[in-house]
Amino acid sequence: MYSPSGVKTNHNEFPIPERQRAWVLGEPGQLNFTEKPVPVPKKAEVLVRIDAVAICATDLEIIYHGPPASIQGGLPFNKNFTPGHEYMGTVVALGPGVDEYKIGTRVAVEIHAGCGQCKRCREGMYTSCHNYGLNYGDVDKGHRANGFTTDGGFCEYQVNHVNTLVHIPDEMSDEEGTLVVTAGTAMYALTELGGLVAGESVCVTGPGPIGLMAVAVAKALGAQPVILTGTRDNRLEIGRQLGADAVVNIRKTPDVVAEVKKLNGGKGVDYVVECSAATSAVNDAVRMVNRGGRVCLAAFAHEEVPVDVAHIVRNNIYLYGIRGEGKSATHRAEAFMQQKRFDATKIHTHTFPLDDLPTAIRYAKDRVEDAIKVVVKANMGAAQKEAAE
Ligand SMILES: [Zn+2]
Ligand SMILES: [Zn+2]
Repeated sequence: MYSPSGVKTNHNEFPIPERQRAWVLGEPGQLNFTEKPVPVPKKAEVLVRIDAVAICATDLEIIYHGPPASIQGGLPFNKNFTPGHEYMGTVVALGPGVDEYKIGTRVAVEIHAGCGQCKRCREGMYTSCHNYGLNYGDVDKGHRANGFTTDGGFCEYQVNHVNTLVHIPDEMSDEEGTLVVTAGTAMYALTELGGLVAGESVCVTGPGPIGLMAVAVAKALGAQPVILTGTRDNRLEIGRQLGADAVVNIRKTPDVVAEVKKLNGGKGVDYVVECSAATSAVNDAVRMVNRGGRVCLAAFAHEEVPVDVAHIVRNNIYLYGIRGEGKSATHRAEAFMQQKRFDATKIHTHTFPLDDLPTAIRYAKDRVEDAIKVVVKANMGAAQKEAAE
């Protein structure tokens, strides 16, 4: 029986085993299903029973290439590391001093707890913590980014700092709950980092999960028009359903920059959120914005890309990267979702049992059956059984 000292549990309602099923990363691209001890929450932490976890493009980066994960100061391979970061679940145990959450509360989680003591953490930019990954040996700063620098969600239980928890209502499905952090990242890009106010124009390039959530959040924030560019008509159509006023299929449009300006009354837009990672994307983006406009870079390019610096200088263009979901933006995104200002479930396409993670990853990576967001659930069998009864 799981009963660490100083930790509150409720075994009648939420029994916790001592060991759990967990996936761990071996060589690049190789995941092994194994067993691990259920972790113990420390001060200001809780134990979350993971009810659903979504696969993110960044998980694929980590599993196949390593960064941005950093385990014991290096690459995450063969270190008994469990990836996965876009999860939701139920609080089942409370570490010392926790009274902010009760056992049984459903939560989505932010990824980055930060160290809490560096300059960026003190500013609320804990996703840019200066002590990133310094959570081991005699340099332990207490930094946590589950699925990046500490064990993540492709398992049954994980520890989370209370600052990373976002309470979600009972009406919200597990699958939708996993999308709160995705919407939170889009919120952080547009408001806290970008400064968007109602009536400003936005173009999102690349209809992946972040791009589609950027469309939804921009529209919910009152942006106008919201334009989405991409190569797949089915994804562009989902973008339309999430609030895009216009969509542009760049395969069918020879001059995408001219088309975006045309759709915005002949002028460049105020913001571009770049989610495509295409080689030409940065130069296209800085030409799509108006003078003084802002470009948020939200995709990982795999090679160095040429940038027209003179154009950026001459036109006073702001260019910024985004890492994750700082300044509690996830709470504001969840508020939009709770108010049903957009339906994030439109981007959820598939659910698999936790045991089938490699299949789920293949669906996400190769976009099998037009997969967008693929979710895995440890207790899928139980949920289905309940539904059948
Ligand atoms: Zn992610
Ligand atoms: Zn920090």
